[in-house]
Amino acid sequence: MNGAAAIDERRQKLARLRELLGESDLDALYVSEGVNIRYLTGFSGSLGHLLVTGEEAVLATDPRYEIRSAEETRGSGVETVILTREVLPKFVGLIAARGLRRIGFEAERLGYGAWETLQSGLSRRKPIATAGLIERMRQIKSPTEIEAIRRAVRVSSEAFERTCGRIRPSWTEQRFAAELDHAMRRLGAEGSAFDTIVASGAPRRVRIEPRSLVVVDMGAILDGYHSDMTRTLAMGRPSRSHQALYRAVLDAQLAAIEAVKPGIQARTVDGKARSVLRRSGYGKLFVHSTGHGVGLEVHELPYVSKHNDQRLEEGMVITIEPGAYMEGLGGARVEDIVVITRNGCETLTSNSKALRLL
Ligand code: ZN
Ligand code: ZN
Repeated sequence: MNGAAAIDERRQKLARLRELLGESDLDALYVSEGVNIRYLTGFSGSLGHLLVTGEEAVLATDPRYEIRSAEETRGSGVETVILTREVLPKFVGLIAARGLRRIGFEAERLGYGAWETLQSGLSRRKPIATAGLIERMRQIKSPTEIEAIRRAVRVSSEAFERTCGRIRPSWTEQRFAAELDHAMRRLGAEGSAFDTIVASGAPRRVRIEPRSLVVVDMGAILDGYHSDMTRTLAMGRPSRSHQALYRAVLDAQLAAIEAVKPGIQARTVDGKARSVLRRSGYGKLFVHSTGHGVGLEVHELPYVSKHNDQRLEEGMVITIEPGAYMEGLGGARVEDIVVITRNGCETLTSNSKALRLL
């Protein structure tokens, strides 16, 4: 992603971060988290340290990434510095030389060794712990980001359809998962968003149990952005209890999506799904949250849980994925990605939600 729009958005993100630094009375932020560096600068290498001050954004990496860092950050107002060996101590030296007073660091993201290097390098200026500054910014997606997520969703949706079309009764869960991964790669994914889940309750190395429900949870990564979807399949004709369980889960999912709009609290959306399952008698079987944000990480803010009273906003991208899992019967889950729009939401995942028979 390096079009004019993406570059423009990156400049806006840096400007927004500088506002936040001002509000937190910080002169600078040391960004150590790779995903956050990618968000602000476009740089996707595995080794990077970023300093953002009121005027500068300095990205340090090593010679492996000399060409890539220049290409990916071009036009973004980021200065790249190539350091050899002892990259972090040298980078901390660059920070110290700037005479900044209040320097923030990402307390939830920085390892202990790096923290020690930072602290000793800054000597008398104690670095200031910050939490979630960039993660909170990342909740609201730009048009370019939404487009990237849309493409990632398309890849996993298409891979799911293709793979279901050629499934064989001899396949194990492991084989099914491998075929899904392979299909996503062939369709252009950089990788799987997480370890693809194919769960029927059977051991992973034996063939999938006939007459069971199979939960398939998968996602693709494209341009660093993730997709995440779940569909439930029935191996053979589903029993009445399987049908009832699936119906309740689907109704819960539809009720939650129906509720999604700007201004609603995340926990209210969670409550919609939960109350449908409770009314159907499956309340105790829904043991996780209704959803989560998706973007440069597969699980990010905001969490659609019963504990989150945060209000949803236009531009957020979240999953809606209630499920119910019963000992001896198996489980069902349905998961879509939705973008919050001005008046409600748009569902990006296009695969049918009818219980598919294999
Ligand atoms: Zn998922
Ligand atoms: Zn998910």
